[in-house]
Amino acid sequence: MTPASEFDYCIVGGGLQGCLLAHALAWHRPEARVLLVERSDELCGNHTWSFHETDVAESARGWFDPLVAHRWPGYTVKFPASSRRVGIPYATITSDRLRAATLRLAGEGLAGEGPGAARLVVRTNAACEIVSPSLVRLGDASEVCCRMVLDCRGRGGPAGDVGGAGYQTFLGREYAVAGRWPAAEPTVMDVRADQACGFEFLYELPLGPDRVLLEYTRFHEEPTCDEARAASLIAKRLAEAGVGSATLVRTERGCLPMPYASEARHAGISPAGGYAGGWFHAATGYSMPLAVRFSELVARASPDRVAAEVAAAAANDRLRRGFARFLNRLLFCMVRAQDRWRIFERFYRVLPEARIARFYAHRFTLTDAARIVIGRPPAGLAPIRFARSFVSLPRPVPT
Ligand SMILES: Cc1cc2nc3c(=O)[nH]c(=O)nc-3n(C[C@H](O)[C@H](O)[C@H](O)COP(=O)(O)OP(=O)(O)OC[C@H]3O[C@@H](n4cnc5c(N)ncnc54)[C@H](O)[C@@H]3O)c2cc1C
Repeated sequence: MTPASEFDYCIVGGGLQGCLLAHALAWHRPEARVLLVERSDELCGNHTWSFHETDVAESARGWFDPLVAHRWPGYTVKFPASSRRVGIPYATITSDRLRAATLRLAGEGLAGEGPGAARLVVRTNAACEIVSPSLVRLGDASEVCCRMVLDCRGRGGPAGDVGGAGYQTFLGREYAVAGRWPAAEPTVMDVRADQACGFEFLYELPLGPDRVLLEYTRFHEEPTCDEARAASLIAKRLAEAGVGSATLVRTERGCLPMPYASEARHAGISPAGGYAGGWFHAATGYSMPLAVRFSELVARASPDRVAAEVAAAAANDRLRRGFARFLNRLLFCMVRAQDRWRIFERFYRVLPEARIARFYAHRFTLTDAARIVIGRPPAGLAPIRFARSFVSLPRPVPT
């Protein structure tokens, strides 16, 4: 059993947020003793986490850049009658790479003698209850005392129950292909398939000359993925690419709520990041920008100021969080399923790259927000209906 107060920080949850935070702490507070507790048998799950490079602040580059697995100078979006190349650098962190880097950090910590050696201890297969801001209880009923608990339990955390929401469901398949993959850059949205089933698209990440991830995504009222439909669109793209044989090397699936109810107030016991604390982009489903921001915030704040600074930053972001949810409400409650793609087509048609970058980074301004919804909207998106949607839908009960 770990002796009381052996750790300065106890991170509960070894997914995207928990692992990024461990790296930020090792970089900014190399003297800190950190415990990272994960309930499943390994860290990081099975994901490919992509992001725009402009999501990541310069101050985070030192610890963040070594985690990046793939980078591209830009990407393309394709719609029925148009396409656009967006020249914002795009990148990906894989679960494998983040897990290996985090375990390396822990290994260095165990072996490290001198100042500056990371002091990270990882415990897997350890479901954990947060008892107080400085105490956690593990599944075997042992308790660990630390100076500060950080809740990174994802959807198991206080913000996990999102109230009213639509869903993004995914089926991703990674292939090793016999020939050279015909595209060097990602296609982040290929919306050319018939949209009768609701907004759906294929996402394509060339991970190397003979490696590709093809991921089917559907935005829907229900949290279920139509896997037969996904498989047929993926197979169609493989055939079109003309690369000969393709060997399936990995599959990832998942479902992300896209909340449209107002954010409930969470009375978490300790500061919460990632999905557990509402540090995700409700409208895009990307967690990376806010997970990196949370990691920087916690690692740079003096330990006695962490809770206050996290609360202040969340309050500062309140309008943006509300706007992202409003966009989801617009998408799921006001637009017919088969017309949803038009919102994305318009987004990419009218917005310059700087606004796109700020939107994805969750740093958009009031003018950016206005530009996203006002202009020549698609049929049925009259501003008066926008406004009414704020008041007519039920609000979630605060937890
Ligand atoms: C298929 C798919 C594709 C995605 N693609 C992207 C993308 O390209 N870019 C992007 O930014 N986002 C993407 N997302 C979203 C992103 O994966 C999540 O929003 C992100 O993982 C949230 O990070 P988190 O650390 O809060 O939660 P998670 O990554 O879910 O981690 C939470 C961790 O806490 C652990 N845990 C829970 N309860 C306990 C407990 N009691 N004790 C100990 N451990 C516990 C869980 O086992 C888990 O490992 C995608 C999601 C899916 C499903």
